[in-house]
Amino acid sequence: MTTLVATDLDRTLIYSAAALGLDVPDARAPRLVSVEMYDSRPQSFVTEPAARMIAELAAHPDAFFVPTTTRTREQYRRINFPGPVPRYAICANGGHLLVDGRTDHDWNLSVRQALDSSCVPLGEVRDHLVRTADPSWLLKEREAEELFTYLVVERDLMPDSWPKELAAWAEPRGWTVSLQGRKLYAVPGPLTKSAAVAEITRRTGARTVLAAGDSLLDADLLLAAHEGWRPGHGELASTGWAAPHVVPLPSRGVRCGEEILRILLRRVAALSAES
Ligand SMILES: [Mg+2]
Repeated sequence: MTTLVATDLDRTLIYSAAALGLDVPDARAPRLVSVEMYDSRPQSFVTEPAARMIAELAAHPDAFFVPTTTRTREQYRRINFPGPVPRYAICANGGHLLVDGRTDHDWNLSVRQALDSSCVPLGEVRDHLVRTADPSWLLKEREAEELFTYLVVERDLMPDSWPKELAAWAEPRGWTVSLQGRKLYAVPGPLTKSAAVAEITRRTGARTVLAAGDSLLDADLLLAAHEGWRPGHGELASTGWAAPHVVPLPSRGVRCGEEILRILLRRVAALSAES
């Protein structure tokens, strides 16, 4: 029986130095493996056992390991996972489907057509962001894949009220706001990870979808899955988000990434044995 394992990447499987969340003395910290280089520097990490488990999952005969990320394709391609290249990957929050690493242009076209008819255009949202964000804490404003936008902000300087006001402005316009570390995303509501997962489910004939994620942009992915897990850190944990079939894990940071992989592999093995 084929199982899809659709998991978010940043702060779910892989962790930047700032997101490691290691609360042990340096001498007892786990050894880490770099899985991403950026400007010739290591950027994202997993623990050694996590690296082995990613390779195992990617090579599993009864499972598809589907990296499911809001990253653009370019940002995703910087990641260098151990093991075979995943057959399918989801980028741009569902806006792009990669098949054997190559862009599925038909999928992107169908997503764009759906967006055109259901929410205000990206340009209008960007104008609003640039008009209302304060240059004292706004570090960068970026367009991603001509689909959505994100800001890099100085969290300590940005008022807590600003993302809430932005979300209240965006929601009636069909857009979702998600704050993850230093990045604040504004994403069209219909641009979802779950829609792309549904497409891969259809193509592979998978019977079960397992999912993991930490942010508001993962909520639809978790809800659409048969079983889900979320870390003890992140936007979903801090807002108390819950669903009956989604297990809230207590662990935090890079160790939680390792725990998620252990659970996913165990579930894949059990489902494989049932068939
Ligand atoms: Mg994440």
